[in-house]
Amino acid sequence: MLHSWQPKFPDRPSNRYLNTNETVWQPMTVTPREEFVPPEHFEDAFKNIAVPIGDGQTISQPQIVYMMTMALWDLENTRILEIGTGSGYQTAVLSLVSRSSNIITVERIPRLATEAQSRLNQLGYRNIQVKNATDQLGWPDGAPYDRIMVTAGAPDIPTPLVDQLAVGGLMVLPAGPIGKQEMIRVHKTIYGLETENLGACAFVPLIGRDAWPPEFD
Ligand code: SAH
Repeated sequence: MLHSWQPKFPDRPSNRYLNTNETVWQPMTVTPREEFVPPEHFEDAFKNIAVPIGDGQTISQPQIVYMMTMALWDLENTRILEIGTGSGYQTAVLSLVSRSSNIITVERIPRLATEAQSRLNQLGYRNIQVKNATDQLGWPDGAPYDRIMVTAGAPDIPTPLVDQLAVGGLMVLPAGPIGKQEMIRVHKTIYGLETENLGACAFVPLIGRDAWPPEFD
């Protein structure tokens, strides 16, 4: 069944990573977004909007989830790191699209991490480990990762995350001033970083050393 929010596909820059959509889109149609929002926002789960999940955080707009997942194409047999688990919705989409590659997802707010892990377990996702964030960005113990997705807005491209990305790997992140970021895709090559701007977006801040200080939360 298709959700009623069925987003129109985002404007896509033409390049080799964004040449397909069904493999990302089909898993989104079977991921029950309503299970990831608080009960009082049940109806909003079917709309193409960000929804509050408590503690000042939000579950991203489906269209953004689609776009960020597309930006990391191809995800099969990759080691994946997500920063900013939130509700776990984006993690669930990554899990399906990657066909059960191993996923580590890190969350700074312990309540959200605990709830996301039990929700994902209950829904039957078995390839996801939710970790409580430490004072180091990401999860260096599991590095290198082939794909890194950051679902909170960083001031710039954080060096610790570049260090955790494998050569040949892709990272997608919102970067720039608070609430007014650009979606950046980073390709780590043996010669250095190639970056592409995928367009304007608005995210809650990425908090921590090498990102925004806690008072911005
Ligand atoms: N992907 C989520 C939405 C994320 S909202 C979903 O699908 O629901 C951004 C999340 O990033 C928030 O939950 C916030 O607490 C978290 N966050 C902010 N800074 C972080 C950090 N340094 N490490 C891990 N998580 C962080």
